[in-house]
Amino acid sequence: MSFTTRFAPSPTGPLHLGHAYSALLAQDMARAAGGTFLLRIEDIDQSRARPEWEALIYDDLHWLGLRWPNPVMRQSERMDRYSAALDRLADMDLTYPCRCRRGDIEAAAGAPQEGVPRFGPDGRIYPGTCHARPMAEAGAEDVIRLNMDKATAALPPLGFAETGPAHEGRHALDRDHLCRAVGDIVLVRRRMGSSYHLSVVVDDADQGITDVVRGLDLFEATQIHVLLQHLLGLPTPIYHHHRLIRDDQGKRLAKRDDARAIAKYRADGATPEDIRRMVGLG
Ligand code: GLU
Repeated sequence: MSFTTRFAPSPTGPLHLGHAYSALLAQDMARAAGGTFLLRIEDIDQSRARPEWEALIYDDLHWLGLRWPNPVMRQSERMDRYSAALDRLADMDLTYPCRCRRGDIEAAAGAPQEGVPRFGPDGRIYPGTCHARPMAEAGAEDVIRLNMDKATAALPPLGFAETGPAHEGRHALDRDHLCRAVGDIVLVRRRMGSSYHLSVVVDDADQGITDVVRGLDLFEATQIHVLLQHLLGLPTPIYHHHRLIRDDQGKRLAKRDDARAIAKYRADGATPEDIRRMVGLG
């Protein structure tokens, strides 16, 4: 299959220099390989997604010189695909409903213990309180979790190929690490119908993505995606985790860094070439 990659922003704020770097790098890599660059709108969190942010994404990316085939995939239109994937995991008895709120999880996790990680790529590592609850009990106020212990019980040797500069090579999944340092991740968030991890895996497969280009901040999350791909019988792409664009204090840029929004640079008279230079692609 020919090189196919994507840029997958969430329409919850303005795109900043970090997004510009990710999108431009993905398109440059697709061009160099004679492949395809796709755009996907990650808007499962309808409480935060806004049409005006989505419109600005198209506008900013166009201005930067990016082009992609239409129609664009939008996650909010694909809830049936995510529920089908969840049903498959539930049929394998790998899921359970969880009613714990943040405070319950903090309390159950107890005092920090030396050598025991408290946070993983899906946030606070869940102490397992609800793991015996049957799916039949799942209600609107529950999240659905993956039972990591069961999901990794019969794990064949699994891994992924990485072409990014920081971790180039082959990476194997490790059962012990998944259970201890990742834990029972959320597959369906409360009132959301899916989660980032579940959607991204289903979408990458449905879009025929061969190469995922994204920030190093997601390197740890990739092992979750590779595991879900295996459980759902989906192919594992090649991954390229790129360096992060930082502000003058060395902090990673976030959505709230409006000062580095592409729209702000545009309004100040910058050109797309200036942006390329600023992110080191000049
Ligand atoms: N919507 C995710 C983000 O903006 C996409 C990350 C990815 O899977 O590449 O961080």
